[in-house]
Amino acid sequence: MTTVEQALEYIQANDVKFLRFQFVDLLGVPKNVAYPVKSGEKGIDELRDVLTDGLYFDGSSIEGFVSIDCSDMILKPDLSTLSVLPWRPSEKSVARVICDVYRTDGKPFEGDPRGCLKRIMGKLKEEMNGEYFVGPEPEFFIVKPDPHNPHKMVPADSGAYFDLEPLDEAPDIRRNIVFALENLGFHVEASHHEVAPGQHEVDFKFDDALKTADSVITFKTTIKMIAKQYGVMATFMPKPFFGMNGSGMHCHQSIWLNGEASFYDENAPYQLSATCMNYVAGILEHAKAIVAVTNPTVNSYKRLVPGYEAPVNIAWANSNRSAIIRVPAARGKGTRIEFRAPDPSCNPYLAFTVMLAAGLDGIKRKLEAPEPVERNIFAMSEAEKKELGIDSVPANLKDALDELENDTVLKEALGKHILENFLELKTAEWDRFRISVTDWETKEYLKI
Ligand code: GLN
Ligand code: MG
Ligand code: MG
Ligand code: MG
Repeated sequence: MTTVEQALEYIQANDVKFLRFQFVDLLGVPKNVAYPVKSGEKGIDELRDVLTDGLYFDGSSIEGFVSIDCSDMILKPDLSTLSVLPWRPSEKSVARVICDVYRTDGKPFEGDPRGCLKRIMGKLKEEMNGEYFVGPEPEFFIVKPDPHNPHKMVPADSGAYFDLEPLDEAPDIRRNIVFALENLGFHVEASHHEVAPGQHEVDFKFDDALKTADSVITFKTTIKMIAKQYGVMATFMPKPFFGMNGSGMHCHQSIWLNGEASFYDENAPYQLSATCMNYVAGILEHAKAIVAVTNPTVNSYKRLVPGYEAPVNIAWANSNRSAIIRVPAARGKGTRIEFRAPDPSCNPYLAFTVMLAAGLDGIKRKLEAPEPVERNIFAMSEAEKKELGIDSVPANLKDALDELENDTVLKEALGKHILENFLELKTAEWDRFRISVTDWETKEYLKI
């Protein structure tokens, strides 16, 4: 917990001249309004007031927020997130603080994605004295204009998995990304070149889901800013290039109950507790609807195809990466499951909300998980998969949205406001795609 007085001290000690009150819209795009910090006693008093009471803003033009007739809102800062932005000047510096969105009547705004995740985590705490931890593995591409065609972006290097320079031309970018993240309080665990040319991964330590969702937003901005300093562009688009791996954001996750790791049981099969298996069963049961939120773009479904290390099959396994859930080998406190569907185009607050809602449904209903599938599912025939009861994720965004619309557990977790606005925005996105005519179609059908 950071107090208002500690925040004031931090702001003065770091010569902060602009304080950005930051939040995300429904799609997870970061938004902010900068408050100019004034000097002198009067300036400090004024700052103390906004840190305590929040900052008024007009929410009517924020994607998925409110209509014009009821637009006044308040940004209440979560002072524990206050941090100087390392890519801005160190003199007269800029800091940001992540905020919760409130209505002027003092109630949390039901359309605030951060508030949505807080609500379900609060419920977990209240009903089961539980905590939810997530460790994400966000992947991204660094791209640059094609020297022969400046309108086309191509991977910025020709490296492959775990490559070193000179094939991997990005070590300096990654080095500075890691330093910038550390300055922002991240505990970076690893960084490496990924499988595809120009593709990278930087992993940071798991934390409670709220902190991790905040971190994912900060992470994406940091990567983009550092890449920009090098004259290249970072993208979190799930499948930027046909024929290459896409970018996922696998989410390692676990539930702790009464302060204890609840997924480990020394005497259970695979040493995975009944709670863990119920959680897995819950995710599997709701997987088709979950992906509407964890994989929320038209392009997301170009990644979820066989052959590129992204999951397609709704099954769990101990080490087999063709299943949508993998349980890494660590046991004891480190026991966790890895849900491999999410990609970094998702709104992390909503993604973690629906994953938790699904897992909790499994725990509450004591759902039984099927047997793990340790064989490569990509190599199985349709008949074999059918026999084993292995289903596939939806083939496109529209099918996923239909699944979400029919999933009462996930709908309740998101709440009416978020659900309705999400479906509306995403259906419009799907319709824009549906009426477009792609290069593939012209190539395939022009001869007809
Ligand atoms: N890029 C893969 C995906 O889309 C993951 C590859 C890996 O982490 N080894 O999920
Ligand atoms: Mg990894
Ligand atoms: Mg990876
Ligand atoms: Mg992984």
